[in-house]
Amino acid sequence: MQTDKGPATKATGKCMCGAIAFEFMADTHNVTACHCGQCRNWSGHFWASLNAPFDSLKIKKGEDQLGWFKSSDYARRGFCKTCGSALFWHAEKLDDYKHRIGVAAGAVDPDAALKLAEHIFVADKGDYYEIADGLPQKDTY
Ligand SMILES: [Zn+2]
Ligand SMILES: [Zn+2]
Repeated sequence: MQTDKGPATKATGKCMCGAIAFEFMADTHNVTACHCGQCRNWSGHFWASLNAPFDSLKIKKGEDQLGWFKSSDYARRGFCKTCGSALFWHAEKLDDYKHRIGVAAGAVDPDAALKLAEHIFVADKGDYYEIADGLPQKDTY
């Protein structure tokens, strides 16, 4: 799991259909690709996200379009009810993590200049692809 290191900058994002738009603060050079089974199942491949302080996330548009799926006994995943975009991961039941939220890198507007930093849960990755970008790989997080 990502740490809260690095300078936070404001970024904006939206779902595929545009019903939901949001802004948040994050270290845009600290994108993590999660290869766990849940993220692969949810996203269709691996899921890249960046951590934002939960308080910094502002839903600017379409709050009523934001659905939450309880994906484990400690975390929930936020998605657009109209287009199905996978937007957020929030470990709301873990005291150490509930103050931040994972925001889908693919939903973030291009001017944020995101950079992938690491791969996590590599031990659970799919057997149909290789990770060959030279970035750090962690078996868990
Ligand atoms: Zn949408
Ligand atoms: Zn995952």
